[in-house]
Amino acid sequence: MGNQEDIYDVTIIGGGPAGLYSAFYSGMRDLKTKIIEYQSQLGGKVLLYPEKIIWDIGGLPPTPGQQVLSNLNQQGRTFDPTICLNEQIKELTRREDGVFLLRGSSGETHYSKCIILAVGHGIFKTTKLEIEGADRYEVTNLHYTVQQLDTFKGKNVLISGGGNSAVDWANALEPIASSVKVVHRRDQFGGHESNVRQMKNSSVEVLTPYCVEELHGDAEGTQIERVTLKQLETEERVEQQVDAVIVNHGYKMDLDFLLESPLNFETQEGILTVNEKMETSVPGVLAAGDLVSNDGKLRLIAGAYVDGAKAVNQAKLFIEPEATEQAYVSSHNERFKEKNEELTKKGLLAYAGGSK
Ligand SMILES: Cc1cc2nc3c(=O)[nH]c(=O)nc-3n(C[C@H](O)[C@H](O)[C@H](O)COP(=O)(O)OP(=O)(O)OC[C@H]3O[C@@H](n4cnc5c(N)ncnc54)[C@H](O)[C@@H]3O)c2cc1C
Repeated sequence: MGNQEDIYDVTIIGGGPAGLYSAFYSGMRDLKTKIIEYQSQLGGKVLLYPEKIIWDIGGLPPTPGQQVLSNLNQQGRTFDPTICLNEQIKELTRREDGVFLLRGSSGETHYSKCIILAVGHGIFKTTKLEIEGADRYEVTNLHYTVQQLDTFKGKNVLISGGGNSAVDWANALEPIASSVKVVHRRDQFGGHESNVRQMKNSSVEVLTPYCVEELHGDAEGTQIERVTLKQLETEERVEQQVDAVIVNHGYKMDLDFLLESPLNFETQEGILTVNEKMETSVPGVLAAGDLVSNDGKLRLIAGAYVDGAKAVNQAKLFIEPEATEQAYVSSHNERFKEKNEELTKKGLLAYAGGSK
């Protein structure tokens, strides 16, 4: 084992906004960096809403999720971190010499002096429809997320669920689809009040308290053609013709590697406790993003960026206690000198000064 060990300064678990910004910042602080991501792509939760327009990131005009993903990826790769995709961290321990060991689902062990936990709410697994055989329609017209609104153009869409996303999807599809029905077990819906109001005041047909009881396939058994809905109080059944079914029954989270780690992290109701410097209760392990809880925590992309920068600064100090507490701002940072010259030469800087 000894000779094979490649010890990184910083290993970031999770490649969402917190992880990607941390990777950028870590490179800026000259740390040898690795990102480990369970999914086959980087981006974290933003992958769930590629077509949503994001308004609340400082300095960015309203921008679709897909563009934010692309920008995040580009920035996260600035200093060429090692990126391991399709790798779920299953175990986090520390050796006697202080090196952290991360055991991945691939069977590989990753070695690191510091860890940044950026795992959001853990591995996201969508709660599936509990109807036998439903999985066969997942390749055709049973959806657990909305990737492209256009897929539903002119269709009769049935949405099952009452959470934030169910309401958002209903509103987004209402002007595009031929009809939208929302079926929910309760009368109350999650999400912003104004979005719920918009849905209820639109052509969206809201059916509560109902659930989807059966799916009926076409003659080939490949597409859902009709669904049976059950009224939960009267137990009355109704059938509806559908072209597409979207299910939003929430997500299950898997944070076991952290909650069961022998390092005994301090947590509160499944959320990791950190101080204002993003230090966890385990020295050398920092955290950033949706996963953490501290005073005034901002559970937004902008908050994840701030957490990431702070976590990296602490990692730097953990490894090199004599280092400066914070990085030089990018305009004065030597790490960018060559890159700036290259960009200027290629004419790739969007703003060249002056008032255009
Ligand atoms: C529908 C929706 C709309 C939103 N809209 C906005 C908005 O408009 N503006 C805004 O600012 N925020 C918005 N948010 C919130 C924003 O997406 C989150 O705050 C942000 O993604 C948090 O980033 P993160 O990196 O902490 O976590 P995540 O984005 O959750 O990323 C965590 C990553 O860690 C990976 N991971 C987890 N466990 C492991 C493991 N054991 N091993 C390896 N990898 C692991 C996951 O696969 C995931 O990719 C929205 C969220 C949702 C769900």
